[in-house]
Amino acid sequence: MQLQFIGCGDAFGSGGRQNTCFHVTGDHVNFLIDCGASSLPALKRLDIVRNDIELILITHFHGDHFAGLPFFLLDAQFARRTRPLVIAGPQGIETRLAQVMEALFEHSSKTRQKFDVSVVALNAEERRHFGAVTVTPYPVVHGESGGPFLAYRIEAEGRAICYSADTEWTETLIPAAREADLFIAEAYYYDRIIKNHLSLKTLEAHLPEINAKRLILTHMSDDMLSRLDTLPYTTAGDGMVVEL
Ligand SMILES: [Zn+2]
Ligand SMILES: [Zn+2]
Repeated sequence: MQLQFIGCGDAFGSGGRQNTCFHVTGDHVNFLIDCGASSLPALKRLDIVRNDIELILITHFHGDHFAGLPFFLLDAQFARRTRPLVIAGPQGIETRLAQVMEALFEHSSKTRQKFDVSVVALNAEERRHFGAVTVTPYPVVHGESGGPFLAYRIEAEGRAICYSADTEWTETLIPAAREADLFIAEAYYYDRIIKNHLSLKTLEAHLPEINAKRLILTHMSDDMLSRLDTLPYTTAGDGMVVEL
């Protein structure tokens, strides 16, 4: 199995990075984690075959994680996609998806797709199976609007991947990421504590109890990007591939 960072930037394109979108592929799985606004051009730039993607997991409804869906769905329609697609995310996803479709492309939410699209609302700490992918969502803390907010522990092909989503520190990240083969964690600032986002120094204090086998930092602001050369951790880059 492998995970490729299609985009690992924040909402503001810091460092010229694309919005959040990770692509996981294996013998039996092919899915995206988040689909931020810039994801379709980013997927095309990396020659990803979109028709093979069976599942898109959404962590929350901010544009840098969610607003790529209208572009993805319209492109699939025009490219005559036939394969069914499952889009899963927090409660309210069906309404939020229709709203963002209408805001970006009027009437598009009412277009009958040539392929089956299932939109599935997930509940925190309720495991769900999507083919060979098992997903356990955990509630995280990321402000008042754009939620509910979910981190994911994703199990497939004998491996566990956790993505923190955008969040300030919360204890749910411990079971979500415990002993995961790969923990992709937001590290928005280096040591500045702000509401709704995670700083590396805060995360660092909890790493021993999480004990993930591998950690990769993502969603970094300019503050973090200016320190890349001095950080003792692996940091994500657009296009980077991780073997699992
Ligand atoms: Zn974000
Ligand atoms: Zn966010």
